[in-house]
Amino acid sequence: MTDNIERLPSHTPPGEKRGNTTWVSCRSCRHWFHTTASLIEMGSVDLHCPSCHDEFKPKDAARIVLA
Ligand SMILES: [Zn+2]
Repeated sequence: MTDNIERLPSHTPPGEKRGNTTWVSCRSCRHWFHTTASLIEMGSVDLHCPSCHDEFKPKDAARIVLA
C-alpha cells in the first residue's frame, strides 16, 4: 500500500459489503472518480480519468479514499 491512500471510518449500512467504494483523485486534473478496491490492491493496473483521460498507477494518484 502507498501513503496516498486514506481509509475512512466505517459507516457502511448493515448488510452491505465494506470496501466497495473507492474514490481516486486524478494526478493531473484532481477530478474525483470511482473505482473498485480490488483494482487498487492489484497496484499494476492503470486507472483512467474520465475527465482528462490521463492514465496512471494507483501509487501515482493524487489521493485515494477507501470508504
Ligand atoms: Zn484527470
